[in-house]
Amino acid sequence: MPIPEVEFIWMNGELVPWHEAKVHVLTHALHYGSGVFEGIRCYKTDRGPAVFRLTEHMRRLERSAKMYYMDIPYSVEQLRQATFDVVKANDLPECYIRPIVFRGYGEMGLFPLNSTIDVAIAAWPWGAYLGEEGIKHGVRAKTTSVQSLDHNAISPAAKACGQYLNSILAKVEVTKAGYDEAIMLNRNGYITQGSGENIFAVRDGKVATPFLADGVLEGLTRDAVLRVCASEHIRAEERTLSRSDLYLADEAFYTGTAAEVVPIREVDDHVIGEPGPVTRHIQQRFRAIVEARDEEFASYAELVS
Ligand code: PMP
Repeated sequence: MPIPEVEFIWMNGELVPWHEAKVHVLTHALHYGSGVFEGIRCYKTDRGPAVFRLTEHMRRLERSAKMYYMDIPYSVEQLRQATFDVVKANDLPECYIRPIVFRGYGEMGLFPLNSTIDVAIAAWPWGAYLGEEGIKHGVRAKTTSVQSLDHNAISPAAKACGQYLNSILAKVEVTKAGYDEAIMLNRNGYITQGSGENIFAVRDGKVATPFLADGVLEGLTRDAVLRVCASEHIRAEERTLSRSDLYLADEAFYTGTAAEVVPIREVDDHVIGEPGPVTRHIQQRFRAIVEARDEEFASYAELVS
């Protein structure tokens, strides 16, 4: 699906027309993946557009940049304001937002510390990443032969451009096999995450998701779900999960900014079934939070101003 174009993209401090937000073909990040990015969603609410956990996303962007020795020339507060400016300039009631910080044109050697740092924030309308049907009835997932990133190779803790080659291989493999999304395993054979989502299993009313150290991105939706469970007195824990924990789960779901909370109805042809009560409940609470209808998590919906 081509990106639906809007009018402006924020680039290095100013709003530029969509088609003028360009880079040179010798941009460092294009060759080596030397960039970091975020995926953020802005939701329509009764009080105007609200961005889900914008501050936390920008703080994660800063941490990802730090991992690759990049100093972002803007503060979190400036990046927040730039995001609001993009949403307002394009008159978007709801959208997906993509900030990116990358090594630009100038140096071509692998040692990157003298290269320029470019920053851009784009926004466009983007519906349910794994489809509306997926949100309602669940998706079919398959473990992939593509191994998760290892802490001693490319750290899964940062959200860096180059690491998504790993996700792309996984996504293509399972899509060609006829499934909706991948489940990745680490070098020890334990569950990590989807190609662009965290993953949860539910059994006997107890929710579980892999430890960060098992090799997963510190997802902000994952974190929100764990906090919702705590608030609702649903037992939830981080632990090492094996594929059988998913095969034998009563319920399972993915979480992510693009995907949101998506039930999993099958794993490697083991049937889990239609979304269960815990998943449904978490989906409903998540919806209330992002639409600024939840008092307890009111600070998660950052109103565009
Ligand atoms: N894991 C990976 C590999 C991802 O790309 C994403 C999407 N950013 C996630 C998990 C979910 O993170 P979040 O909930 O912050 O979007």
